[in-house]
This record gives sequence, C-alpha cells and structure tokens, in this order.
Amino acid sequence: MNILIKNGLIVNAGESVRADLYIEEDKIKAVASNITSNADEAIDAEGMYVLPGAIDPHTHISMEAGEITTKDDFKSGTAAAACGGITTILDFPEPAEGETLLDCIERKHKLAQGEAAVDYSFHPSITRSSSELIEEVERAIRDYGTPTFKIYMAYDIRADDLTILKVLQKTAKYGGLVMVHAENHSIIEFMTHKLANEGRTDLRYHPESRPSVAEEEAVSRAIKLAELTGAGLYIVHLSTRDALAKIREARARGVRVFAETCPQYLLLTEEKYELKGFEPAKYIISPPLRTARDNSALWNGIKSGDIQVAATDHCPFDFKGMKDRYGKKDFRKVPNGVPGVETLLMLLHSEGVVKGKISLGKMVEILSTNPARIFGLKEKGALLPGKDADVVVFDPGREFTIDHRKLHMNVDYNPYKGFKITGMPHLVYSRGRLVAKWEGKKMQFVGNPGWGRFVRRSIN
Ligand SMILES: [Zn+2]
Repeated sequence: MNILIKNGLIVNAGESVRADLYIEEDKIKAVASNITSNADEAIDAEGMYVLPGAIDPHTHISMEAGEITTKDDFKSGTAAAACGGITTILDFPEPAEGETLLDCIERKHKLAQGEAAVDYSFHPSITRSSSELIEEVERAIRDYGTPTFKIYMAYDIRADDLTILKVLQKTAKYGGLVMVHAENHSIIEFMTHKLANEGRTDLRYHPESRPSVAEEEAVSRAIKLAELTGAGLYIVHLSTRDALAKIREARARGVRVFAETCPQYLLLTEEKYELKGFEPAKYIISPPLRTARDNSALWNGIKSGDIQVAATDHCPFDFKGMKDRYGKKDFRKVPNGVPGVETLLMLLHSEGVVKGKISLGKMVEILSTNPARIFGLKEKGALLPGKDADVVVFDPGREFTIDHRKLHMNVDYNPYKGFKITGMPHLVYSRGRLVAKWEGKKMQFVGNPGWGRFVRRSIN
C-alpha cells in the first residue's frame, strides 16, 4: 500500500520542514513539497507533526523476577508501544542459572515471534561473572545481530569488574557496546543492612538504601574500565546530577560514553515515597526517584547533549497482587519497576517540548535518531527516503489525561496518573502499516500480533 501524508511538519533531529511524505509499501520513498502520486491513501496532516517512530531501547517484557513475571508480554507490550508512537523496542534476554547466552536469546525470540506488533531487537545480558557467557559475546554479535550487552553492577545477577573488562574488550574488538546498570552493590547492601538494623524498613526508606553516591561511584568506575579498554559504554537509566557530572567530564576528555535517562527521573521526585499507606510501592524502582535538582540537571544534560537517549525501563508489576505480594511494610520486599513504554513520547512532548525544556528537534533526536545510531538500527530513526516507514502523525494540541484505564499496558496503575498531556499521536505506522490511531478520546490499537519483526543490528 502507498500512502501520501500531506502538509505536515516533517520533524527530523536537525530540522523541521513543512512537506509531504510518501510511503511506498514498507519504506519512505520521498519527502518533498507538493508530491503528486497515485497513493492508495492520502492523509491531510495540516497542523500536525510527522515524526519518526520512537525507539524504546529499554523494556522488560515477560521478565521473570523470582516467582513473578512482568505483566506485559510481547503481545500487550508492543500493542501499548504502538499506541504510544513507539515503533521499535529493545528488550533484555537474561540467562537463567546454567543457561547459555545464545539459548536465552532464542528463548526470548520465541516469546516475541508471532506476538510482537512492532519491530524489536535484544540486548543479551551477562547475568553472572561467567567465562562461558563472555565466550558467547562474539557469536551474539556475529551470528545473531545483537551487538549490545547489558551488565548489572548491582543485584544478585551482577558481574564483577573483571567480567565487565572482558566484555568491554570483546565489544571493542568485534563491534558492540556494553550497557551498564550502574549502582555500587556493596553500598546498597551496607545501607540496606544498616536501615534494617535500625528498624527502618518502611517504604519511605527505599531511596536511602540506594543513595546517589552508589550511582555516582559505579558510573565513575564503569567509565574508568571502558577507558582502559578503549571500548564505548552506555549508562542506562541515569538518575542523578552527580553521576551526570562524571559523564560530562569523561566525554570532555574524549571517552565514548553515552547516557540514557527515563521520564521517571525527569518528572517525578522522591516525595512520592512520603505518600500514605502502600502508595509509595508504585514508585519503588532502582535507581530510586531523586530530587527536583536532579530532574532539572537531567533536562540540562539532554539539552547539552551529554544525555543522548530517553528510554523507559518499562517494567510493569501490578499494584495489587504483585507489588504487595511479599508484604506492605518493607521496601526490600517490593518488586522494583514502573510501566512506561506507552507514555514515553507523550510525556517528553508535553512536559519537555510544550513546557519549553527541549526543542521538537531535540525530542526526535533522543527518541529516534540517537537510539537508532547508537544501537545500529540502520533502517530507523529518521524520516528520509530509504528508511523504514515507521511514522507517527502527531497532533500537538490534542489533550489527554493519563489514566491506566485509557492506556494499553497490561498493568493496574500508572505512575503518571492525572498528568494532563498536550499532544498525542493521531496515526502510527510500522513499516507502512497502520498499527494505532486516535479514536474516541484515546488511542486504539489496530495492528496485528506477529507483524513486528526481529531487527538484526550491527555497530561499527
Ligand atoms: Zn531496566
């Protein structure tokens, strides 16, 4: 099917132009003024923005955490993504005890096949200090097209510094990138024990158990390890001003370090942990929510280019039945995570662009162009001839109030409930196929499970 989108404001990272965009089958064929063609369908996008589909490089779909699993599977998670204007997600296969890295990629791939409604790829995780897993890095890059690896510096699945060094060395050699969850495990363990010994295990103590210094130290150490090996490095979910300062310093001296932050660290603060009853559980995430000062430092980091990507860390657990499964009075027992894949674009536009914190071009840069470039999604991330027709026709004035009942994520609460949004998707295309549209005061999913394809990636 050929589609002509007329008179919209075509937004790319560098510039916005009023023009037409012509889609032929699954590709963008032309971007120009006054395109005349025999399109099967013509859409008048007067007054609308035309954006490249957003990429969320940080989701946890069907992730097992002990006895429970994140609520969104590939079917619901990618339908929600489509409704939010996210046309590619990158998820994390996490090898279980004894499982190989490649088996784990295949296991996760089977969960996505026939289910995903938008395109997807994987960052295999090195979930323990194991020479077997490290040995598989080369094949994951070469044979599977998954050249980006997640390493945790905290939790039971953390890797030691030697493992991090070895994986950095491999990615430098074969073309890849290490992504780290940077928090110092010992500091967290020490603080958690200290709080428990003092009887301070109420939910409000969660942020104290994972202080800013734990992140700052781990970011700083990961940078030093990358610097030693000459490898690039990507810090996931950056949350603090002090850790950002370490990234800025490293970039200034030429280290190839990238940083990602998330809406929760830009828009919410640790005051949520003072809410009554079990409400704080909705915000128990790691790293924890920080201060307003950190929020504004992160916005500035996006503006200055020291933070290149906004992602979600989408990790949905129900408030009832999952967050409260192991007790309501102890922060150590609450499953960590917030849902977010569907609200990424609307929040960045409404809270970022509309409120004057970032430009429209910057929003497209951090949601599409940069993740495509950093993660080797060569067909995605920009509205240019030859790229995949992942396109969002976006109505910048449309109003919406966030409520989980009007969204598509399979979870019983939303951390942004009540946020008044200005600007919502109107039509969302994945490789030229309509997958979501605005109808009856909310987005409707109109795609098909199984449409989404695995995307092989390569990084130079
Ligand atoms: Zn995560």
